Amino acid sequence: MPIYEFECSKCKNVFEALFTSRDDKVKVACPVCNSKRTKKLMSTFGGKFGNASSGGGCNTCAATSCGTT
Ligand SMILES: [Zn+2]
Repeated sequence: MPIYEFECSKCKNVFEALFTSRDDKVKVACPVCNSKRTKKLMSTFGGKFGNASSGGGCNTCAATSCGTT
């Protein structure tokens, strides 16, 4: 069961949620403010070691977690 981290664009809350769909357009509501302006962050596991199936997967990474510099 995949667990992803989401960040709320409204209140900046970061939370984890089960995300069973592969459809990235599905929105998950923030548990704090109930906004659906959330974005999916890279998973805290399974995404760091260059799995080619994800096609590079740096498009949502805003910080240092990509580590290619
Ligand atoms: Zn929120």
